[in-house]
Amino acid sequence: MRNQQHFAFNIWDFESAKAVMDGAAFLKQDVILQTSAGIFRKLPARIFSDFVKKYSEFRGIQAWLNLDHCREKEMLFSAVDNGWDMIMADGSSMPLDQNIAFANEVTVYAHSHGVLVEAEVGQVRGIEDEVMVQQEGIASRDAIEKFLISTNVDFIAVAFGNAHGDYKVAPNLRYDLVEYTTSIIDKPFVVHGGSGLSDQVLTRLLEMKGVKKLNISTDLKRAYKKGMEKSVHNWTQPVKVSEIIHDEIMTVAISKMKLITFGGSE
Ligand SMILES: [Zn+2]
Repeated sequence: MRNQQHFAFNIWDFESAKAVMDGAAFLKQDVILQTSAGIFRKLPARIFSDFVKKYSEFRGIQAWLNLDHCREKEMLFSAVDNGWDMIMADGSSMPLDQNIAFANEVTVYAHSHGVLVEAEVGQVRGIEDEVMVQQEGIASRDAIEKFLISTNVDFIAVAFGNAHGDYKVAPNLRYDLVEYTTSIIDKPFVVHGGSGLSDQVLTRLLEMKGVKKLNISTDLKRAYKKGMEKSVHNWTQPVKVSEIIHDEIMTVAISKMKLITFGGSE
């Protein structure tokens, strides 16, 4: 899994997970589904991970489950205990030494259960921040190097000018930091904030050595909204509403995953 490229989609319930897996099955591509910490709290964890396993098997693909951006140790361990395949130990808001210690503690537990760990250096900022703040979160080369030699995480995310939510202006991505990270260590690089990046930018990232995981969240929520709006006149037919929303989510997932099939380097 770590040697192949995957999109990772943030899903929020059984239906959205099913729609993404249906899209992956359409392209015969494996996929990563991820839950935010807030969604993890709401889901019946074991039943959900069982569902993802069973449904992906049924569709003939592999779907891995990741706990995205989590800084609560108890929740990270609970995801490990409840069948998640990956967890993101997000200590990016902590001072570097604490981020390292946090990643190491979580990694020991996760690895002893065969679960992979993602961590982040620098801080990929959120939807509410201005571009200036986004720039401040960018990781330094020293921090990247120190983090990589001091931890044993499986996936590395670096803030390189990317952001969550909508980009108000086209981001100034520091591709050199992606190259720098993957030149120090042969570890899969994770791109956060993939929503709103053009296909051209996503393809360029996919062509870079070591870029293995691209996260998409906002674009799926936008698809959900579009489905809601399109189905508003079908409110007396819940099945029809579900179908329309499902198809919007699936279509967006396919449009992203196609970039790997046709534009990716592997
Ligand atoms: Zn993220």
